[in-house]
Amino acid sequence: MTGHAGMSAATRVTRLVQKPRYIRSAIASLILLLAGTVASLIVLVRVQLAMIGRYPTADWPAVVAGLLAGGVVLAISSGIALRLRSPRRVLILLAALPLLLLAAGCLSVTHFPQANFRTDELRTEWYHLHPTLRVSLWIARLSAGDLVLTDVSREPADDAQMGLNAPAWSRHFLSPPDGYVHAMDVQVTDAGDLRNWAQQGVFLALGLRADRHGGTNDHLHVSMPLSPMEG
Ligand SMILES: [Zn+2]
Repeated sequence: MTGHAGMSAATRVTRLVQKPRYIRSAIASLILLLAGTVASLIVLVRVQLAMIGRYPTADWPAVVAGLLAGGVVLAISSGIALRLRSPRRVLILLAALPLLLLAAGCLSVTHFPQANFRTDELRTEWYHLHPTLRVSLWIARLSAGDLVLTDVSREPADDAQMGLNAPAWSRHFLSPPDGYVHAMDVQVTDAGDLRNWAQQGVFLALGLRADRHGGTNDHLHVSMPLSPMEG
């Protein structure tokens, strides 16, 4: 006889006692992994924004520094969650995860799924978007796969066409210091306010500005934080 039927009563009791402990530690590891992943994504963008705040034209170096910093946070939290004791394994993780995030980050600033653009035109405008915003959009997409980008760059003439009062300056115009657009518009969904608030919350947690522009053209306006120069 094999399996449960063949188990002695004593073994069965021991297993019953041990099981919750295994489950508890597995759940604790999972929670730690999840928290570590969320923390690394937040660090990844916030380090970029901090660097850009200091050096406004440090776009690409800031992206690289942010991705590596996020990778280090992910490696440390994964090492703790997996209870790695061998220094060699910890070192491998510390080298591998930042490089992995760097590779994923490079892909994220060059590609964005076609289905997430409202128009084909936007796919070309996407390359004018500041790289930190492109990375952030991917992070927001992790929690909302059906997110739709509705607007990136605008020119003063576009605003006049749309019947808006043409502003002297908009974050949707190419920014002179670095040549990138510092704002993007994301569609708000009809799936309920909770989802829209959650989406706004994701961008705010990443350290970006996210304002809901209601009215006929209801959307979420996401932009880079203002630098001290811009006031
Ligand atoms: Zn906008």
